[in-house]
Amino acid sequence: MPECPECGAAITIPANAMQHELLPCPDCGTELEIISLNPLTLDRAPEVQEDWGE
Ligand SMILES: [Zn+2]
Repeated sequence: MPECPECGAAITIPANAMQHELLPCPDCGTELEIISLNPLTLDRAPEVQEDWGE
């Protein structure tokens, strides 16, 4: 089971997870991005600016 890179909590990946999907860590709330599904790699999602418009 993958771990949160921030706090080490076990992250449950949905069976239908897609690459680049964002998952919040249930423990610390950090947004995690699925960098790759094979092998499964998680990393902190980049901070999204609020002024993307649209
Ligand atoms: Zn965490």
